[in-house]
Amino acid sequence: MHVSLYRKFRPDTFDKMVRQEHVVTILKNQIISGAIGHAYLFSGPRGTGKTSVARIFARAINCEHPQDGSPCGKCPTCRALAAGGLDVLEIDAASNNGVDEMRDLREKVLYPPTEGKYKVYIVDEVHMLTGSAFNALLKTLEEPPAHAVFILATTEPHKIPATILSRCMRMDFKLIPQEDLKAHLMRILDEIGKPYEREAVSAIARAGAGSDRDMLSIAEMCLSYGDKLTYRGVTEVLGAADSRDTLALCDALLGAQMPVALEGVERILAAGKAVGVIMRDLLVTLNQIAIVKLCAGAEKLLSLPQEQFAALKEVASRADGRAILRATEILARAESELRFVSSPRVALETAIMRISLPEYEESVDALMVRVKALEEALARTPMPLAAPAEVAQAAVQPPREAPSAQKKSDPAEEDGYIPPMEEPIFSEAYFSDMPQEPVPAAQERGKAEPVVKRESVAKQEPAPAAPPAKTETAAAPAAGGEPAEVVYGRFIRTLRRTSKNGVLFTMCSDLEAVYEGDMLVLYTASPTVLRSLSREDHREMMKEVFTGLGVAQFEVRLKGERSKQDKSGLEELKKNFEGYPIEIK
Ligand SMILES: [Zn+2]
Repeated sequence: MHVSLYRKFRPDTFDKMVRQEHVVTILKNQIISGAIGHAYLFSGPRGTGKTSVARIFARAINCEHPQDGSPCGKCPTCRALAAGGLDVLEIDAASNNGVDEMRDLREKVLYPPTEGKYKVYIVDEVHMLTGSAFNALLKTLEEPPAHAVFILATTEPHKIPATILSRCMRMDFKLIPQEDLKAHLMRILDEIGKPYEREAVSAIARAGAGSDRDMLSIAEMCLSYGDKLTYRGVTEVLGAADSRDTLALCDALLGAQMPVALEGVERILAAGKAVGVIMRDLLVTLNQIAIVKLCAGAEKLLSLPQEQFAALKEVASRADGRAILRATEILARAESELRFVSSPRVALETAIMRISLPEYEESVDALMVRVKALEEALARTPMPLAAPAEVAQAAVQPPREAPSAQKKSDPAEEDGYIPPMEEPIFSEAYFSDMPQEPVPAAQERGKAEPVVKRESVAKQEPAPAAPPAKTETAAAPAAGGEPAEVVYGRFIRTLRRTSKNGVLFTMCSDLEAVYEGDMLVLYTASPTVLRSLSREDHREMMKEVFTGLGVAQFEVRLKGERSKQDKSGLEELKKNFEGYPIEIK
C-alpha cells in the first residue's frame, strides 16, 4: 500500500518536529513538571505541524516513562496508542460540523481512559463547528472531568468564539523557514535513497511556502516523475517551466519596450497561465533581479540552476535599480487589487503598459527612468561643440574613471580632500564579496555630479540637487558604533533572510544610510518608496529587524529633505574648503 511521504515521515517525538520550538518547549516542560492543561488551542497555517504536535503530546502525557517530554514508544500505553488505542480521539470538524459529535463527546468524556491517565480529544479545523456544536463543546470545557484534555486545532483562530478561546491555552504555530524545509526534504531523500539536485530541492521548498505538508506532497508528485529529482522535472510539475519567458518579460518591462512586453504577456497567457499566477511570477522574478543586482551572496541566496542565475544576472546588469522598484510597486498594487476587478487580463495589461511607458507618468520614479534613458542616449551621441564644457565632460566621461583621473591632476587630494561618491554606495564594507560592477544608483549619481571640483566651488556653485551633508556623514561611525552603511548592509541581509515580504526587501534595497546622532536615517530618492516604508506594517517589520541589530531609532526620509544635519554638514564642508566662500541657500 502506498503511504504518502508526509504520513511516512510524520514526527513521532518532539525532537523530530521541524521548528515550532517555541511551542514544543512549553509542552515538554508541562509534561516534565506534570502541569497539564485541560484545553489547548493550536492555531497556525496548514502543514506547520499542529496535528503532529497534538498527537505526540497526547501520547506523551499518557506515556509511563516519557523521555525528555516525548513518548518513549516502548511502554504498554505507548504501544496501545500506536496501535490506535481508545484514549486519543480525533474529530475532524471540517467533515462533519459536529453537533452530534459534540453531544456524543459530552457523554463519553465522562468515562475514564482505558490505558493511560488521560483521554485526549483532538478536534481538527475546530472553526468549522456550527454554533450549537460550539455550545456543546463549551459546556464540556466549562466542567471537564480531571482525565480529559482537549486540543483544538485551527487555521482560522479568529472564527473561534471568545468563550471557547478564553478557556484554552493558545499556541501559535508559525510558517517554517525555507532553509528548514530544505533540510527536512534532503534528510528524507537521503533516507529513501533518492538522488536529487540541490536546486530541485530548493524549488520544492520554495513552492511549499512554509508548509511541511505542502512541500512533501509536491515532492511526492515530483518523485513519481522520474528516477532522479531534477530541477527541470520539478519546474515541469510545478508548471513553472516558462521561467525563461517570465524573465524575458521582465527584461522587456525594465527596458521600457512595451510591444515586446505585451507580446510576452500574450504568449504566457496563451500557454494557459492564470493572470494572478503571472503577476506573482513577475514579482518573484523582479525580486530575484533586485537581489542579483544588490547582494553579493545572491547566488547562494537564490540557489537557482547556474544557467538560470546567469540569465538573471544578465538582465540585472541591464536593469536600472529604480526601474525595478517602480515595476515592483505597480505590479504589487495591481496584484492586490486583482480580486476587485472584473477583467484580470485588462488589469495585467494596464500594469504592463504603465511599467513600460514611464513617459506617461509624472511620478519621480518615472521621471528618473526617463532621465536615465536620456543620459544614456546622450552618452552615445557625440556632444555638439556648443555644449557647456562641464556638461559635456559629465556626459562623456565614464563615471568610474572620474575620481582616479582627478587624483593625479588635483593637488587638493593631498590635503585630505576626498571627492564625494567615489565609491559605489554598496561598498565592500558590508558585502565582503561584492561584485566588481558598481550599483547603478551610484553610477547615476556619478554622472549627475561627477566630482565636485575646486573650480566649481570657487565659483560658488555647489550642486543643488544633493545636499552635500550626506556624503560626508554617511561613512562617519555613530558614537562608538559601526558606520551606518555597515549597519544598513546587515539590515538588508537580515531582512532578506527573515522576511517573506519581497516588496519590502525591494523597497529597502536602495537606501542611503546616515547616522544623525543615535538616529539611523535612511534616505530614499523616491516618494513612493518613502510612502511604502512609512506604512505601519512595513515600519513594524523594519523595526523588528533593526531592534535585533541593536538599532534603537531609525527614520526614513526623502533625499534632499532638510534636517538639522544639513547645517553641520555645511560646517564640515566649509572646513574642507577653507578659504573658499560657500553659501547654500
Ligand atoms: Zn511510553
